[in-house]
Amino acid sequence: MHTVKELREKYIAGELTPSGVVAEALDNIKKLNPEINAYLHIYDDAVEAAKEADALYKEKGADTPSLLGVPVAVKNNILIKGKKATGASKILENYTAVYDATIIEKLRAEGAIFVGSTNLDEFAMGGSTENSAFGITKNPVDPERVPGGSSGGSAAAVAMGSVPVAIGTDTGGSVRQPASYCGVVGYKPTYGAVSRYGLMAMGSSLDQAGPLTNTVADAEMVHNIMSGLDKMDGTTIADDTYPKLETKDKYTFGVPKDFLKEGVDEDVLSAFNAHVESLKAAGHEVVEVELPLFEKGLAAYYIVMPAEVSSNLARYDGIRYGLSAEGDDLLDVYEQSRAEGFGPEVKRRILLGTHVLSSGYYDAYYGKAELARKKMREELAEVFAGVDFIITPTAPTPAFKIGENEDPLSIYKQDIFTVPVNLTGVPAISFPMGTVERDGKELPVGVQYIGPHGGDARLFDVGKAVYDEQK
Ligand code: GLN
Repeated sequence: MHTVKELREKYIAGELTPSGVVAEALDNIKKLNPEINAYLHIYDDAVEAAKEADALYKEKGADTPSLLGVPVAVKNNILIKGKKATGASKILENYTAVYDATIIEKLRAEGAIFVGSTNLDEFAMGGSTENSAFGITKNPVDPERVPGGSSGGSAAAVAMGSVPVAIGTDTGGSVRQPASYCGVVGYKPTYGAVSRYGLMAMGSSLDQAGPLTNTVADAEMVHNIMSGLDKMDGTTIADDTYPKLETKDKYTFGVPKDFLKEGVDEDVLSAFNAHVESLKAAGHEVVEVELPLFEKGLAAYYIVMPAEVSSNLARYDGIRYGLSAEGDDLLDVYEQSRAEGFGPEVKRRILLGTHVLSSGYYDAYYGKAELARKKMREELAEVFAGVDFIITPTAPTPAFKIGENEDPLSIYKQDIFTVPVNLTGVPAISFPMGTVERDGKELPVGVQYIGPHGGDARLFDVGKAVYDEQK
């Protein structure tokens, strides 16, 4: 599949048409999806939208919206009016969205064509897409392995070549980690840069939507369309909220050496070290930094996140949305609907979250985790006074085999480098830094660049220089 930039140029030049490209996307999906299961729903009405785009290009050429005719896949926890929005949960199996999420409205206004919705871990809880109520997604690089998660369907959709752009959501790494496992680019914006209106809430203080693409330039373009103040989400921020950071030719990178000792596979660490060397060779400065509190990020995240999950998921009560089970009285309807509708991982987090918020435990757990979060922000601000970016591997291992990690804790550990970013609200990007070999197969692994609050433009700038230009 071409990049967004290439498609746009070829559409304007008349070398390709949206109808041709959308037909190709749908063919690809119909051919590969029976095995990969990246998509939960395929939108055949994309064909009609593509014909309209053909006509618009004929009439207006370059004077058309920037994503006109570009096929896009959307994680199925983001609302598209009139389409099923399941969150990959049995409880919403037959639920149809009644409005467009703000980001969908914005993408639509720029001419994007939605070709299907993608699979995820139920309500975005997980790191392998094995928690979907509608089957596991396989990694297109090696179908014996998971694509990562929770936006595993979106990462696989790009990696299998069906679309140049898929939209995901990232609460603790769900865009970046699957990007790393599938060998694509994944972006998690500064908290508040992108509206959450019309996203199924997981952890409201952590959630952000971001693009998965083949190039940093494409991620930048799509992010810039999706971002901005939104009156429907009071946590969105204006563009000038944080000081503008100028772009530079040479940057200073901070490597948190101690943090990297935590269970990172040796060959992933070698790939990372080689990446660091290539930065130095390109004339950038690399220094060691200390982020002792980042090591507590995983512990804090797995308290804050379930606390927010437990309150956000209270709305699925068998009355307002989706599945409604028979019960003797109202309370019984709630209990039966939730018992039947939610999968085990979602139940585990609701129980944990309810516990840490209960009186008597609140101060010991939730209060402490929020305090740790505040301290992490301070620690980070100090480090960013001396460096432009902090870099880590995106995940400690490459994609693991389907069914290999049965213990939920072993999957939580995959989030070690990504969750501190959500807890502190800063932006981060993941792009491929090389491959490591497993069972005779070369598996992609990603590097994560973390920027300070509002440093989104600079992350794209460095990502284009380091990744796109070397590709
Ligand atoms: N893997 C993390 C979790 O299970 C992140 C999920 C996400 O970002 N939605 O919570």
